[in-house]
Amino acid sequence: MAEVRDVDVLILGGGINGCGTFRDLCAQGVDCLLLERADFCAGASAGSSRLMHGGLKYLETGEFRLVRESAEERNRLLSNAAHYVRPLPSILPLRSRYGGILPSILRFFRIKAKMADRGGWITHLGLTLYDIYGRSFARMPKHRMLSRAALDGTVPGLDPAIIGAGLYYEGQISHAERLGLELVLDGEVLNPSSRALNHVMVEGQSDGVVTYLHEGRQQRVRPRIIVNAGGAWIDRVNAALGIPTQLMGGSKGAHLVVENAALLKALNGHMVYFGTADGRVNLVYPFMGRVLIGSTDIKIEDPDAAVCDEGEADYLRAVVAEIFPAIPVTEDQILFRFSGVRPLPRADGDIGLVTRDHSVAEKSLPSGVPVLCLIGGKWTTFRAFGALVTDDILRRLGHVRRVGTEDMQIGGGKDFPGAEGRAEWVAACAERAGIDVARAGVLLARYGTRAGLVAAGLGADRPLESLPDYSREELLWLIRNERVGSAEDLIRRRTDIAISGRLTDAVQREVEGLFAKALT
Ligand SMILES: Cc1cc2nc3c(=O)[nH]c(=O)nc-3n(C[C@H](O)[C@H](O)[C@H](O)COP(=O)(O)OP(=O)(O)OC[C@H]3O[C@@H](n4cnc5c(N)ncnc54)[C@H](O)[C@@H]3O)c2cc1C
Repeated sequence: MAEVRDVDVLILGGGINGCGTFRDLCAQGVDCLLLERADFCAGASAGSSRLMHGGLKYLETGEFRLVRESAEERNRLLSNAAHYVRPLPSILPLRSRYGGILPSILRFFRIKAKMADRGGWITHLGLTLYDIYGRSFARMPKHRMLSRAALDGTVPGLDPAIIGAGLYYEGQISHAERLGLELVLDGEVLNPSSRALNHVMVEGQSDGVVTYLHEGRQQRVRPRIIVNAGGAWIDRVNAALGIPTQLMGGSKGAHLVVENAALLKALNGHMVYFGTADGRVNLVYPFMGRVLIGSTDIKIEDPDAAVCDEGEADYLRAVVAEIFPAIPVTEDQILFRFSGVRPLPRADGDIGLVTRDHSVAEKSLPSGVPVLCLIGGKWTTFRAFGALVTDDILRRLGHVRRVGTEDMQIGGGKDFPGAEGRAEWVAACAERAGIDVARAGVLLARYGTRAGLVAAGLGADRPLESLPDYSREELLWLIRNERVGSAEDLIRRRTDIAISGRLTDAVQREVEGLFAKALT
């Protein structure tokens, strides 16, 4: 039987909240083990709309604390993860001047009310509040109201019934899954005795000793504190630990990545964030040369069953037709679809009104070991949520915080060059690694300043036959250095192959072949 390893904290679940908490604890010198059953950021954290946002719509439900925190975290991410998070100019179309006032008041008091039309007055008020909440560490311009004529010059082709718009700014993350991995790698550097493992199966626990399978071998760990960061699977993780709970009530959301040149052109670099006839809010924005459309919001009991089905794909195509009636999105334009389950607290009633704020529910093993369950939370707020949990754990362990994470740059965001320093950085990287400047620029966009490490490991740099934009050596470097446990990890999370809509059967076969060869 394997020896028992003692750790301060065992984190179960390597979504963004598990990864963020891991890095923070490591930075404080706390000895942690993170176990993820699949890959880092393979759950909801891979299924989000990829907005680093202040949560504009939470103003309607009066969640001002969440809006302030989200806006601050969004602003911080623009500099701490500057390699992946960028400003996204966004449009809120208006269909009337005074629409939405009564439903806004009702929703504020958590009374169900359909909000199909947010008029000019309520939008201006909301965006003004949003500017106020987002003013700490502000890095983006304040909102402006646009007339229909100004809107036509900004995002042409919108439904003629739209009378104007609010123009405001959000953040958008390109490589969300990579940022989760980078947090984990940073954490291990900050505290070399900590470890984060993916593709692990947690078997159960007895007398406070948790057993798990990793690379075919059973391992045992005795934590002082357990963090259950299992997202929508929190109740299942608790069940594996022998604690029956009913904390979670997930909601499934799906997205499409489509190739539609007319829509891409009309968007002109903007997100359109729009209310639809069914009272929901949807979004459409340019993403890696394609268009991303999202999202649905459907109650779901089994998070493992979440896929983007045909009904959802049809719904998403139909809502775009509500605002761009002359630009149809056809089925054959869908390049990629993905879905995730929001880890919401269990609640009755309208799923759209369930709080998106985070909280911690405390349970314990029969042996008395505390189990802190991380409920809810936005992608955007992972750092703040992790800090809250870390402070709680430090108090329990009798430690003091050594360092804050507010200004801690992440992974390839460290010393990421701004527009003025980019050419110099790329030229130096190309020269050091003996690759051409254009290739170094591509690597910088993909990996931030980690591109220097990738470039140094390239050598021959032979392009993939099915996707010459990536090279065999680049993928082999990722396999060797970034905890790749399957070809899917590589295709969906270490690279942007899938999310950018470039995953064909030929690419799948070639990457699988390369991965299999790398293992031999
Ligand atoms: C459709 C949709 C759109 C969204 N859009 C946005 C957005 O634009 N902006 C934003 O800020 N937020 C957004 N969110 C919310 C955000 O994505 C989630 O709140 C966040 O990713 C939750 O992270 P998590 O780490 O708690 O959960 P998850 O990412 O789900 O992580 C939980 C992890 O636990 C693992 N796990 C499960 N069982 C076990 C086990 N037995 N042992 C070990 N590990 C286990 C899973 O594999 C998973 O990786 C969106 C969510 C959805 C679904």
